[in-house]
Amino acid sequence: MRCYCVAEFGEPLQRMERPTPQPKGTEVLVRVSHCGVCHTDVHLWHGYYDLGDGKKLELSGRGVKPPFTPGHEMFGEVVSVGPEAPESVIGRRGVVFPWVGCGNCAHCREGDDHLCATPRFLGVFSPGGYGDHVIVPSERHVVEMQGVDPALAATYACSGLTAFGALAKARPFGPDAPLVLIGAGGVGLTAVALLVAEGATGYTVVDIDDGKLSVARSLGAPATLNARAPDTNKQIASAGAPATVIDFVGSEETAAMALGVLRKGGTYIVVGLYGGALKIPLPSIPLRVLRIQGSYVGNLATFEELAALVSTGRVPAIPVERRAWHRCTETLEALEAGQVNGRVVLEIGEEQ
Ligand SMILES: [Zn+2]
Ligand SMILES: [Zn+2]
Repeated sequence: MRCYCVAEFGEPLQRMERPTPQPKGTEVLVRVSHCGVCHTDVHLWHGYYDLGDGKKLELSGRGVKPPFTPGHEMFGEVVSVGPEAPESVIGRRGVVFPWVGCGNCAHCREGDDHLCATPRFLGVFSPGGYGDHVIVPSERHVVEMQGVDPALAATYACSGLTAFGALAKARPFGPDAPLVLIGAGGVGLTAVALLVAEGATGYTVVDIDDGKLSVARSLGAPATLNARAPDTNKQIASAGAPATVIDFVGSEETAAMALGVLRKGGTYIVVGLYGGALKIPLPSIPLRVLRIQGSYVGNLATFEELAALVSTGRVPAIPVERRAWHRCTETLEALEAGQVNGRVVLEIGEEQ
């Protein structure tokens, strides 16, 4: 098999040849055809998260050590199965659910693999979809989506599930409980698409890029706002102070904006991993009865719910740009520079 690997943190990814793995037990082998490029891949490539105040969370201390193959938004086809997996799934085409846990801890036994303390997430702690073949723990982790283009389908494994999971935490919302979404990148736009699918109103999308905001409006977002405007907080407040802010960026600036506009009893949901530190006067948390909540992808049951929703055809497609496999490094650079509209999906296995 071939793959593009992070051979050294921050260096261009290297094309490598590896023996194609054989599935064991319940495992299945998937030939990957499409893989989305997520902002998390940028952090994996650099090898750290920014914790603010000059501190870093080094990923090498958490089991992410070069050389490794990133890519957790995978679409592909089951091409062989282990001795304990049903042969009937050979030929199944679907999205790979990558958020796999240890299988033994309390969270994993509850089906919440994404909360596992010793995860095996594909494309993070195990090889992912920047390679043309990937081992998946069982056929249950290859989820079909009806009538969805494979490149778009791939993005639901992370940006879709992340948006879906964050929106679930924000309910109920609507005109009496306004919702603000910060960030109209791949995840934020997918959140808009999901809100359009359910006919939601009473939410505003905030970003600093007019191009991204216009994509949000074209998907069906009822209101957008450029945060570079000097009176952003006032404009948000004019539509009613939000009950919930979902922050798909997760920077010090967006946190300050979110906590500045929330109404009493409001909830700040942090999704984005841009980085920095949260600075807030502690008395304001009890006095304003604020709730601060993190949201990170979701479990397999939630992903199956999302797949069922997407299969209805009601969720509008976010912009997806297909790129040749070997353009992975330049795509990571573009994503880091904020130059990607929607999602870039690599076409894996295409000859160059
Ligand atoms: Zn576990
Ligand atoms: Zn991701």
